[in-house]
Amino acid sequence: MKAITTIQTTKAVGQTVIVRGWVHTIRDMGKITFIDLRDQTGLLQVVVPGDYELPRLSVEYVIEVEGEVRERGERFRNPRLATGGVEVGATRVTLLNEAAELPFEVKKDTIDINEELRLKYRYLDVRSERMASNLRLRSNITKFIRDYLHEADFTEVETPLLTKGTPEGSREFLVPSRLHAEEFYVLPQSPQQFKQLLMVGGVGRYYQIARCLRDEDQRGDRQLEFTQVDMELSFVEQEDVLALNEAMMIKLVQELFPDKHISTTPFPRLTYAEAMEKYGSDKPDLRKDKDDPNELAFCWVVDFPMFEINTESSKVDAVHHPFTAPKAEDASQLEAEPMKVRADAYDIVLNGYEIGGGSIRIHSSELQRRVFELLGLGKHEIEARFGHMLEAFRYGVPPHGGLAYGLDRLIMILANEPNIREVIAFPKTGDGRDPLTGAPSATTEAALAEAHIRTVPIKRGRSS
Ligand code: ASP
Repeated sequence: MKAITTIQTTKAVGQTVIVRGWVHTIRDMGKITFIDLRDQTGLLQVVVPGDYELPRLSVEYVIEVEGEVRERGERFRNPRLATGGVEVGATRVTLLNEAAELPFEVKKDTIDINEELRLKYRYLDVRSERMASNLRLRSNITKFIRDYLHEADFTEVETPLLTKGTPEGSREFLVPSRLHAEEFYVLPQSPQQFKQLLMVGGVGRYYQIARCLRDEDQRGDRQLEFTQVDMELSFVEQEDVLALNEAMMIKLVQELFPDKHISTTPFPRLTYAEAMEKYGSDKPDLRKDKDDPNELAFCWVVDFPMFEINTESSKVDAVHHPFTAPKAEDASQLEAEPMKVRADAYDIVLNGYEIGGGSIRIHSSELQRRVFELLGLGKHEIEARFGHMLEAFRYGVPPHGGLAYGLDRLIMILANEPNIREVIAFPKTGDGRDPLTGAPSATTEAALAEAHIRTVPIKRGRSS
């Protein structure tokens, strides 16, 4: 006999079916026992006649039910359930597995449960309706983006995780090389350099749902690893990148969030200077009604300054990253008035959050070298860190530009969640721990020796 999901029962009235899942609730009414059966598609009412000898059951036990799908009488329909018009009259209930008592209830929203506990038992947390629906929503959003970009002639390319650093303004994770003693890989803060090299390689339009890793201190709602929707396009100007992404966001909202509305289209555009002057922020919240959970106010912020002074080191830093092109009309001022030079860099902002950013890139090795020098890099350092980029730029590099979204943050806003951990299956705590597996954790002397690492004892205690 065919096993079906609970949602499929709505299309199987009159048929004898098998359904499987977890006991969400069980109510013994004497003459009859009601079981709410939960699977990945939702809940279904199972009715077991009183004379049927049920195995010993409790909540979260895993069972298989065979029975006939029946339409529920008018009075017994449950409009709150997608399967509320039907029920299964069980002729067989088989216990597949027992369950210990859960550390918290999963039939209620878990948002108020201690987060450490939720993360330790994340596999139970994602049984709850809101978390399960967030994971599905995430999957639907990435599928939409993939389909959209394929339709627009993009190629999905995976770039390496074990690589050399790329400057995006954060500390990098180091990975010791076992095969090359005293040498290290770096985990990527973004696929920035590889996507530009793909443009040199003639890929034309690249995208990737890319994991990025940044060894950041606890600061706001950040994760050590997060996901970008990363893209790069050849032979484009800023306008092309903005137009493509604006159209993609509008269609995503229309298709996946029909209840939501975008406050203003085309998306308002503000220069960085205007945004700072008018709103005192480079990510202004342009919602008309901040209490409306369905309002989405997108805007673009463009013309960011090229450089800023790092308050800690007093050195000149790139505001975006060093591959960003100066605006054509400002380029001649690079050496004379660097702090006045604007970049062809843009951010996409949604409801006061920066959800993505990108730029048109430098595609001349001479200009790229000048920018590195302005950032205070010596000849030797330029060669050691970026020699491969300057080399690649000698072989016919097309003008190019791109953008990357912070996917977790975008989903958080669309799902009306208060933080990105609610839309990530296995996030870490604010201080970078995984209460489920216990990472990070000490390792063995043997593993250290293999990686050519000697540890220096420090006073124990969690560093922040
Ligand atoms: N690599 C940039 C970032 O991670 C995005 C881009 O310039 O496309 O912010």
